[in-house]
Amino acid sequence: MESTNRYITIKTHINHGEPKESHFELKTAAFGLSVELGSNDVIVKNLYVSIDPYQINRMKSYSPSQKAINFAVGIALGEVIDAYGVGRVVASGNPKFEKDDLVAGLITWGEYSKIKDGNMLNKLDPMGFPLTYHVGILGFSGLTAYGGFFKVCKPTKGEKVFVSAAAGSVGNLVGQYAKLFGCYVVGCAGSKKKVELLKEQLGFDEAFNYKEEKDLKSTLKRLFPDGIDIYFDNVGGEMLKVAVSNMNTFGRVAVCGIISEYTDEKRAAPDMIDVVYKRITIRGFLATDYMNAHADFMSTTCDYLRTAKIKVLEDITPGVESIPSAFIGLFHGDNVGKKIVKIANE
Ligand code: NAP
Repeated sequence: MESTNRYITIKTHINHGEPKESHFELKTAAFGLSVELGSNDVIVKNLYVSIDPYQINRMKSYSPSQKAINFAVGIALGEVIDAYGVGRVVASGNPKFEKDDLVAGLITWGEYSKIKDGNMLNKLDPMGFPLTYHVGILGFSGLTAYGGFFKVCKPTKGEKVFVSAAAGSVGNLVGQYAKLFGCYVVGCAGSKKKVELLKEQLGFDEAFNYKEEKDLKSTLKRLFPDGIDIYFDNVGGEMLKVAVSNMNTFGRVAVCGIISEYTDEKRAAPDMIDVVYKRITIRGFLATDYMNAHADFMSTTCDYLRTAKIKVLEDITPGVESIPSAFIGLFHGDNVGKKIVKIANE
């Protein structure tokens, strides 16, 4: 059976500055909805796709990230773009999947995906939760927050935690896990509305709008009079520098991402004398490093969800054609919580 597939591609590499609508194209192509006898292909109707900042590094002609791990490889101009998401199997030659199975894993920024190798795709049991939770809080954003906070930062109760991009997908969960664990938590975000959300709805002890602060180093000094023990870094740049200058002895910095540096050539320059004399650990990590914590992460987070201890922040826009603007919006702070594009009705 034949249908058509509308999907997003990049027309040019995005080597400098922020992504713009003109970098993207919505293409339409004929698409087979059946699999040939003997093939291992899985045809998936995409339902929800994840919109993630790391994709910009795949859209450059070169980024060191492209050689680090399979899912970060460069995107070829005009080709489909793979991305995390949830879908329903239309046809399968792969014995792991059957027609109508719900699946989560690497699908594409399009209406349909043809998955050649089912290794990055899993059957999904929604466990009574909305499917979008499996893109965000119960997907890679959640695992990133959980693995990064508990395994990289190794918190103890009462420690002082700072989170940047705190109203974003990963950041809001780090802050909530840290509060539930018994830490003092301060977050920063790029608007008044986000700051209010952090303090009034997510239980952060303090929050500030980094765009309005004149001297970020003094802001952190005021909010952490006894210093920062843990900095969960989502942004890099200036914020990393000022956080390090306010850290305590044996402080830990989990470098989850450095979104401010993805579109700007300015690099973070923490004072390395602080790092040496305060014996600060600065450690990058990838969520996939913590697959061995996946079962713990799921049981803890599902429990928090069922007992309403954790709040879910989702920001969903409809239609494959809205993927470019959803993605561009990440770099302007348009999203509140997990950015997802709904491709089709469940
Ligand atoms: P997100 O926080 O939901 O969205 C990005 C947010 O970053 C925006 O809403 C914006 O919020 C903020 N931002 C954008 N440009 C900025 C700039 N120049 N300076 C400061 N803040 C800026 O995205 P996410 O998916 O949770 O990802 C957060 C970070 O984690 C990213 O760096 C991402 O690459 C990284 N990440 C890493 C892993 C891993 O495995 N290591 C996995 C997932 C994500 P404001 O309104 O606050 O500016």
